[in-house]
Amino acid sequence: MSNNASKETHAFQTEVKQLLDLMIHSLYSNKEIFLRELISNASDAADKLRFEATTDDALYEGDSDLHVYIEANKDERTITIRDNGIGMDREEVIANIGTIARSGTKEFFGQLSGDEEKDAHLIGQFGVGFYSSFLVADKVTVHTRRAGLEKEHGVRWESSGDGQYDIETIEKEMRGTEIILHLREDADEFLEPYRLKSIIHKYADHIPFPIRMLGTPIPAAEGEEEKPAEIETINQASALWTRPKSEISDEEYNNFYKHIGHDFEDPLARLHQKLEGKYEYTLLLYLPKRAPFDLWQAESKHGVKLYVRRVFIMEATEDLLPRYLRFVRGVMDTNDLPLNVSREILQQSPAMDAMKKGATKRVLALLEDMAKKEKADGDDKNTDYADFYSQFGNCLKEGVIEDHANQERIAKLLRFSSTVSDEQSVSLEDYVSRMVKNQDTIYYITAETLAAAKHSPHLEVFRKKGIEVLLLSDRIDEWLTSHLTEFDGKKLQSIAKGELDLSNVGEHAEEEKKEHEEAVKSAEPAIKKLKESLGDKVKDVRTTDRLTESPACLVSDQFDMTGNMERILKQAGQDVPSVIPILEINPEHDLIKRLAKMRSKEKIADFSDILFDQAILAEGALPDDPAGFVRKINALLIQ
Ligand code: ADP
Ligand code: MG
Repeated sequence: MSNNASKETHAFQTEVKQLLDLMIHSLYSNKEIFLRELISNASDAADKLRFEATTDDALYEGDSDLHVYIEANKDERTITIRDNGIGMDREEVIANIGTIARSGTKEFFGQLSGDEEKDAHLIGQFGVGFYSSFLVADKVTVHTRRAGLEKEHGVRWESSGDGQYDIETIEKEMRGTEIILHLREDADEFLEPYRLKSIIHKYADHIPFPIRMLGTPIPAAEGEEEKPAEIETINQASALWTRPKSEISDEEYNNFYKHIGHDFEDPLARLHQKLEGKYEYTLLLYLPKRAPFDLWQAESKHGVKLYVRRVFIMEATEDLLPRYLRFVRGVMDTNDLPLNVSREILQQSPAMDAMKKGATKRVLALLEDMAKKEKADGDDKNTDYADFYSQFGNCLKEGVIEDHANQERIAKLLRFSSTVSDEQSVSLEDYVSRMVKNQDTIYYITAETLAAAKHSPHLEVFRKKGIEVLLLSDRIDEWLTSHLTEFDGKKLQSIAKGELDLSNVGEHAEEEKKEHEEAVKSAEPAIKKLKESLGDKVKDVRTTDRLTESPACLVSDQFDMTGNMERILKQAGQDVPSVIPILEINPEHDLIKRLAKMRSKEKIADFSDILFDQAILAEGALPDDPAGFVRKINALLIQ
């Protein structure tokens, strides 16, 4: 890209065109957000300049009064938003406005449904940013110059939002960025200063830089000349988090959230705390109502900003908040970090570490409070925690895996479906409180879907004995259970793994034990036949007391992967060796009794295959040869 004054025309990146179209169609009833977005960009630009200037004072060019100025011109039908922030050079303009550099853009477009209301939410989360100008303008002109560059290196950018933009080098005296919106016919309301002022109050009171407009002219008194209108500051211009809690309204808190969270909705919950101890810092953190579209993408960003003495330093990283809390939005501000050192050094400072620990604790405490409230409310429930969990529960599972210091605490926050409740509402503490006589283990089953888990033959004996089993059907559950092996002194055990001995558990354990022992003896011939005809397909064949209705099921050895885990890894394209399962049979089942008496070699072979393939089907998977399975079943039916 040459850097000369000649005018060039560039095409927008395809995604920008798509986004523009979508935005105009889904956000037409929300036009006013253009101002929020442009002020937010101006404020970011001021933040950036202030941060860079901490190590290079010359960037201020003698003017450190950072502010935003907004002007409406009724004759020209334009609105101008001008800042004296960091500005952009030509390359930056091309990279920042004309392309969408964000990761996950493709997935974002994939998620759009065509349902305008839903899409409006998604677009909001994605961050419409600069392009929201086109909600009210049919032409947008940008003049900008990066702080520190000569005035000859200004840039003019202009577009009608129709797929291309013009860019040329201009002379610009004042550093920073000026955005001129040439209003659409239906956007006249925004030419009214009172309308602009009310939007500024709504979205930008908390922006820590003054937003200025020209006031109304003061009428001349008798015999005096009319005084020119004075410039007024419209917003409060104080950092919201530095004000006392008691003086901040819910509305102000929520508006601030919408600004930093780029959200249309109010947050689900918030915490605002000033912490004083070895290190002093303020937290203003929020939980969103909905998960952002990129929550599960590897590069998804944290949503917390770090300030040092009210100067924006950076978006939080894993050094400031653990990755599993990446859905938290808000601000952390401290007086205990030096301003003029590199980010790398900041990231290794003990103050940062202390803030990370403190913030993590407070977020967990907030969640605990929400969970407690929900429980206390009984039936006409406050569902905040359930709402939270449905969106971010799987992040907490990551927490159990990653955050050893808080593992037990996070584990208490988990909620599962179980054989007692289909809803994802069973906590491990609930489970433990319902354990039956002599039960010392927390039982769970993992499967691909809740339905497959719920109908697994492995559950039969648990149903009979009235023992609750947790039903786990999220992919992450396989990892969760390999890290969370104990809770409250009780082992967690997959009911599809290892040998199961429930003979002493439950009210009627004694009688059941006797009956079963007799059946086990009579099943010996069946075991021999199954071993012979299944050969290498099974690691072992043995009787079990875990089945009451099904003839057979598959289990993994205690230290092997479960079949579910194997399927997940294979679907993810990983080259995993197949785990050879153990076939467990129900000695009391009629089919097993029949097999014990069978003579014909051929029949025994078919019958064994059917038992084995059935057990695979019961796990929600497919037998190796489904057609063969059907053929054998049909042959059996005809007999
Ligand atoms: P976001 O603010 O989420 O990055 P935007 O679409 O709002 O997305 O802005 C895109 C980029 O354009 C910004 O990240 C910034 O680099 C640049 N930009 C926009 N407005 C300004 C401005 N007033 N001053 C300097 N840079 C700006
Ligand atoms: Mg922006």
